[in-house]
Formats: sequence, C-alpha cells, structure tokens
Amino acid sequence: EVLPRLTRGEAWIGIASTEPQGGSDVAGERTEARLVDGRWLLTGEKNMVTGVSIALALPYGGGFVTVTRTGPVEAKHRSITTMLFMVKRNGTVNTGFETRDYEEWGRRGIPTSYLRLNNAPVDPDFVLGEVNGGFKVVMEGFDVARILIGAAAIGAARWMLEQSREWIRGRVVFGKPISSYQSVSFKYAELSARLEAARLMVYKAAWLADRFYRGEGSVSIMDVANASAMAKMLTVELAVETGLEAVKWFGGVSYFKETPVMRALLGVLSYYVGAEGTQNIMRLIVARSLLGREVE
Ligand SMILES: Cc1cc2nc3c(=O)[nH]c(=O)nc-3n(C[C@H](O)[C@H](O)[C@H](O)COP(=O)(O)OP(=O)(O)OC[C@H]3O[C@@H](n4cnc5c(N)ncnc54)[C@H](O)[C@@H]3O)c2cc1C
Repeated sequence: EVLPRLTRGEAWIGIASTEPQGGSDVAGERTEARLVDGRWLLTGEKNMVTGVSIALALPYGGGFVTVTRTGPVEAKHRSITTMLFMVKRNGTVNTGFETRDYEEWGRRGIPTSYLRLNNAPVDPDFVLGEVNGGFKVVMEGFDVARILIGAAAIGAARWMLEQSREWIRGRVVFGKPISSYQSVSFKYAELSARLEAARLMVYKAAWLADRFYRGEGSVSIMDVANASAMAKMLTVELAVETGLEAVKWFGGVSYFKETPVMRALLGVLSYYVGAEGTQNIMRLIVARSLLGREVE
C-alpha cells in the first residue's frame, strides 16, 4: 500500500527512533507498544523525527519506522519491535499523537519534529519483521542509510571545494591570488585527495550492500555495517573540515548570506551531530568489529 506511493512521491516514510533521553542507545528506547483488541497502541515520546509535517501535507500521507518496546526494558534489544506508525493514511490523519516542528540553524528543505504518542494506533500488518525482533530491522536500515549520508556529505564537500576553487584563484591579497600561498593551496590539495579516498569508501560500502542484498554468501550484514560506518565517519568529518577551511578562505564575506558556503557547512553539521548515529557511534561500530564486543 505505501511503498508504490512512496516511489511516486505521494507518500513519506521516515524513522522515529530517537527519544528525548537519547538517540544513540537504540536498545534503551522506551516508547511502549501494547496489543489491545488486535491493534498496537504506542505511548511515549520521539524526538528529532524528520518529515512529520511533510507526511501530514502529502495527500496520501505517510508514516515512520518506529522503534517500540514490547517487553521489559531489561531485555534491551530483545524486546524492541519496529512498526510503521502512520501519521496519515489514505488522506486520514491518525489519532493519538501531537507534533511540533523544530526551527533549525542550517537545513531549510526538510523539517524535523518532536512527536508525542498517546495510545497511537498501529495496524498489526504494519509491524516490520518479528515482534521483539525489531532491533535487527532498524540496525540494518541504519547500515544502508549511512551510505546515503556518506554520498550526501561527498556532494557537499565537492561543491564547497568547487566554490572555493574559483574564489581562491580570484581573490588577490598582498598582490597575489591566495591560491598561490601554500598554506591555502596545500590544504586545497589535501582536501581534494581525501575527497577522492572518502568517495571510494562510499562506493565500497554501496558495493558491499549490493552484494549482500543479491544474496552473495561471502558478504555479511556486518561487512556492510562496518563499511558504512567507516564511510559516514570519513565523509562527514571531511565535509565539515572542508567547510571550515572554505569559510576561512572566503574570509569575512562567508559570514553573510550573499556567500553560500556557510550554509553548506551548517547543512553538513547536521550529519556531524546526528543523522543515522553520531560520529562516536561510527567509531564504536568499527572498533567493535575490529576489537570485539567488549569495546563500549
Ligand atoms: C537534523 C537532524 C535530523 C534528525 N532526524 C532524525 C529522524 O528522522 N529520526 C530519528 O529517530 N532521529 C533523528 N535525528 C536524531 C539523531 O539521529 C540523534 O541526534 C543521534 O542518534 C544521537 O542521539 P542524541 O542526539 O540523543 O545524542 P546522545 O545519544 O544523547 O549522545 C550524546 C553524545 O554522547 C556520545 N556518546 C553516546 N554514547 C557513547 C559511547 N558509548 N561512546 C562514546 N560516545 C558516546 C554521542 O556520540 C554524542 O556525542 C536527527 C538529528 C538531526 C540533527
């Protein structure tokens, strides 16, 4: 019902995992789901959910892959169930929820919201995977989504380097273009080289994901998880560093809206502080895969 509409741009699907007490510890999320008279009822709070007002504005509507608790909190990841909570379905707004948009420093194209759930109903057909088996579902989703974040960060870094190239070659200070000073040109060269390397890491993660979903037995989901965490870690930090250099190269004008690089930097900072796991969580995933589960 939803996926064909999603592909036609008529429906929205996002994710509602993060809660006010924290987003990194997905196995510790508290939103409760109870099965009452054949329907799941969700109660709790979700925070920083991207796209709620888009789903509400679309004629069909949309929903959120929601991380819920269907057993004791002590069972951690073994009592997590993932379900698609529809805020609006077939033009009818669901009951049992309230929402409000946050105002963002950087991004303008896509809103992010707070979501309070109070006996919000979910059809049993909208449970994704097994009851109490949802942790794997949501983790796998993050593994793939991180590749897309990596690609977006690469695009932002490339764009900032392109903008900067014109500027540093044209900006004459002390009688010479600033690109002739090695403190500028060497950094430009280094960031360009790191962009190429980070791009290859994104391609590698995407290639592994393709092979995993084609059922090639030699690639496991852990291979995808590790590569996508590396890709997000490297690309996002490169994009932020590129933005910080670019605004310095542009000098004072970078602080004003006539010059667009600051906006790009603010945009990629959203991936630096959040979005499919923080940069420390990327390190945690990679460290655990290399050194073992004892890494915390
Ligand atoms: C623009 C934007 C859009 C978002 N959209 C969504 C969305 O659509 N859906 C959704 O569910 N969430 C969304 N988020 C939330 C985002 O995914 C979370 O911010 C992220 O998962 C981190 O959670 P937190 O902010 O609560 O930080 P916390 O989990 O409270 O972590 C705080 C800090 O502690 C560090 N930390 C935590 N544990 C460890 C550890 N073991 N070792 C070392 N350091 C650690 C973290 O790295 C972080 O720096 C969005 C965030 C942003 C900024």
